[in-house]
Amino acid sequence: MKTIVLDPGHGGYDYGAVNGTRYEKNDNLRIARLVADELRRQGEKVIMTRDSDVFIPLIDRSIISNNNNADIFVSFHRNAYTNPDANGVENYVQINSPPYYTQYARNVLDELDLVGGFFDRGVKQNNFSVLRNTKAPSMLLELGFISNAHDNEVFDKDINANAVAIAKGIMESLGEVYNPNPGSTAPSVPAPGNATAKAIQQGLNDTYKAGIAVDGYYGPQTQKALVRALQIELNELYNAGLVTDGVFGAKTKAAVRAVKRGARNNLVYILQALLFFKGYPVAVDGVFGPATEAAVKEYQSNQGLLSDGIAGMNTFAALLS
Ligand SMILES: [Zn+2]
Repeated sequence: MKTIVLDPGHGGYDYGAVNGTRYEKNDNLRIARLVADELRRQGEKVIMTRDSDVFIPLIDRSIISNNNNADIFVSFHRNAYTNPDANGVENYVQINSPPYYTQYARNVLDELDLVGGFFDRGVKQNNFSVLRNTKAPSMLLELGFISNAHDNEVFDKDINANAVAIAKGIMESLGEVYNPNPGSTAPSVPAPGNATAKAIQQGLNDTYKAGIAVDGYYGPQTQKALVRALQIELNELYNAGLVTDGVFGAKTKAAVRAVKRGARNNLVYILQALLFFKGYPVAVDGVFGPATEAAVKEYQSNQGLLSDGIAGMNTFAALLS
């Protein structure tokens, strides 16, 4: 376990960069909190220099890191420029810092590149107070331009994936092993606009004529479409004779048959979609393999259900509650 200090830039009366009603201080806190969640899920010790909308002097941010003997210090910012076309992510290290600082900063950018939403402007050097006064290896991440519409869209849409990417880059730098399935605490649900979420909605429209919005948002409409798909499949596969009204009532629940490893059908697809929307990372491909089984077990365990990896009526009922 390492000690990781996350520093959401600005706060309180210091808004940072501003674009209309969008303030850098808020974006910095949003992303830093998600990175903190992921690192804690991975068993790391995380200290935030601020976890609310308060002003913290620059020197105090370094003092927090130094007093806690941090292994790494990551400051979160968003860029801004007069030309609204300027875009991309850059990661700063202090001038004349040891070369491995640059490598650490590079690791974070490499992971962000795998998510792929932001243009990679590279690792840069500068003379920033929070980097200069912090004893631990440090970096200052400018996660896209708040002055650029595309970057703001990417920031919002990919925020969970980018938080995980940043956490991975930090852990890799510290020689920590990233566990893709750490279990324990609550998973993060896909952000509105998530590409997989949209693909699921499109699939529901194509296959079941659901007629729902393809916006990547998991709301009542999408849940109802998934229940209706489940009813249609139960009727087709098992002659369940259900009314396909999209309401998960007692009859539908009773008609659910166990879905388990080796299955390959649309019930698996519906199950995977439900797991995905609950924040359990699983391929939504209709094939019930080991990864789906692991996700079902984890979900069941988190819900206090029998954790056997077989999705029966209780698991579906929980997923649709
Ligand atoms: Zn800033």
